[in-house]
Amino acid sequence: MTAFNAEKKGSESGKGALNCKISTQLFNLLEKNGIKTHLIKTLNDTEQLIKKVQIIPIEVVVRNTATGSLTKRLGIKDGTILPFTLVEFYYKDDALGDPLINDEHALMMNIAKEDQLEQLRKLGRQINSILKPFFEKAGLNLIDFKLEFGLDKDGTVLLADEISPDSCRFWDIATGDKMDKDRFRQNLGNVKVAYEEVLKRILGGMN
Ligand code: 5GP
Repeated sequence: MTAFNAEKKGSESGKGALNCKISTQLFNLLEKNGIKTHLIKTLNDTEQLIKKVQIIPIEVVVRNTATGSLTKRLGIKDGTILPFTLVEFYYKDDALGDPLINDEHALMMNIAKEDQLEQLRKLGRQINSILKPFFEKAGLNLIDFKLEFGLDKDGTVLLADEISPDSCRFWDIATGDKMDKDRFRQNLGNVKVAYEEVLKRILGGMN
């Protein structure tokens, strides 16, 4: 496990398999709801067969509730429910610490075209409108998440990478407990227990 641009490191045995299962379920759910993804099939506990894509070097962050870097950057109180779904773009570059960028930065650096940026924003909102009610039914509040997209050989934008407790924040609706990578980032303990609980609830929601 890594956090804060790999400055904090740790390990949690079995977390990869949990993330693989969680991400597979969520990608299947999104595919069923019309989102094109890179996933072909899951091969085993830790491996997926995926379509080859060229990753667009933009992290698309979708937020429903203020926490994390948004609260630090703008001084918004942690836990504030946002008046609308906020979609942000970050330049995917570890050496620069994945800085926040706007559309003009992306165009200036030629990392995406105007219509692609519009598509990323629209897909972020669409994915949120599928995932948020799904997690709500599972007793989890989807606070925010990060998505990555890639272009296939025909230039079609596909959802890529993963969606897991490593790339999302979930707060338990009943207890307020954090059920995601913040348990590692903030030394809250029981990281794997939380990921296992997220998987259990997702599988419950699929039935
Ligand atoms: P924040 O900007 O508040 O640190 O993160 C917003 C959301 O995006 C959180 O759900 C966080 O887990 C996710 N996120 C942001 N950057 C990264 C990243 O580089 N890797 C992963 N896995 N998730 C990220």
